[in-house]
Amino acid sequence: MKKVILLVFCLAEMLTKAQNLIITNVNIIPIEGKETIIKNQTVIIKDGKIESISPFKPEHTRDNTKAHLDGTGKYLMPGLADMHVHFPNEKDMSLQQFFKFNLAAGVTTLRSMRGEPRHLTLRDSITKKLILAPDLYISISLPSDSTITDKDLEKFVKQSKKEGWDFIKYISGLSPTLFYTTALISKESGLKLAGHVYNQDLQMAIKADQASVEHYQAILKEYRKDSLHFPDVMNELKRRDIYVCPTLSFYYIWGMQFGADELKARNGMKYISIELQSKWEKDYDDYYSKYNTPTKNEEREKTILRVKQSLYDFGKLLKRMSNNNVKLLLSPDESAFNVPGFAMAEEMKVYQKAGLSNYAILKIATYNAASFFNKENEWGSIGKNKKANLILLDKNPLEDIENIKTINTVILGGKVLKPDELLKN
Ligand SMILES: [Zn+2]
Repeated sequence: MKKVILLVFCLAEMLTKAQNLIITNVNIIPIEGKETIIKNQTVIIKDGKIESISPFKPEHTRDNTKAHLDGTGKYLMPGLADMHVHFPNEKDMSLQQFFKFNLAAGVTTLRSMRGEPRHLTLRDSITKKLILAPDLYISISLPSDSTITDKDLEKFVKQSKKEGWDFIKYISGLSPTLFYTTALISKESGLKLAGHVYNQDLQMAIKADQASVEHYQAILKEYRKDSLHFPDVMNELKRRDIYVCPTLSFYYIWGMQFGADELKARNGMKYISIELQSKWEKDYDDYYSKYNTPTKNEEREKTILRVKQSLYDFGKLLKRMSNNNVKLLLSPDESAFNVPGFAMAEEMKVYQKAGLSNYAILKIATYNAASFFNKENEWGSIGKNKKANLILLDKNPLEDIENIKTINTVILGGKVLKPDELLKN
């Protein structure tokens, strides 16, 4: 009996020891407060959390009680959060593959915008570390059939809260009165209501204190309605703690802003199977076949220019919102040619083109995501006792946002993952 207990003990000890990690001589980008970089540090990770950060000393490399990661010349920052994902159609890509792509690209948190009841179990398995996947926050979509009453909605919100959904997603439907009522019930229940903007009317999302507004159009529409009024709009978004997740890559792709070669060269495309690549190309061609007549060609050119102008105008607003501390989020959204996880770098490039600083972009993709869930004290930045969801980069992303692609190692709750191994099939 004693022997058995001893064995169990040893095993338990081995497991905890395996999780303990020391990263030596690394440059830290903490993403807390102002832009800064703390050079030559030693980070100790214990039980999935950052236990200590201290100036590097050579003797740290001789600590034999922990697994080692040499951070010399490398950069450590919090893992990324993709804040608008839809799980793949499993005929195209398995969930396991989807999670691995995200992890390999440095995405350690996902906010799922289309929940199904089975995702509750999935999230719990991830939390219990039974499945290798980024941390998951899940939403349930608000029912919208025309016969629904305020009593039904109240029951739905309370039930969703009880079942453990992280937030409710509004897609479409409901009368304005029912929409406001639901927003109020959600708030009272402490369950966030996020999603599409009712009727593309930003004032409704504002009045409803919606937790986040998805996609860019309603904001651009509000600006075009009365451009001088935009500072007030930004103030209201801030005052009510409303986050903005514009998902621009999706509109660049479907607004025909890229040529075929550009689409094929998007980040991570080389990891996509030939079958899925062909399917994406076919979907894209089918969608645009309506323009494939001589008379429609002119219409096509007009559409391309109109979308180009809209995205350009929105880019200016994105920069203004960032400068004015409106809370932004970042996600490319699900689309053909958006490789899960890897398309985050593409969305970052769009933000950079709009004039946001590299630091602002990194903060949006990490700290802001955590603060959306009121978890900024737990993850989304590097500090003592924060969760060890981290990425180690070969090159400095503050110098060039493209360096976000130079992922050397991903640390998920203290577990060391190598992109090459994740991408091996
Ligand atoms: Zn979406």
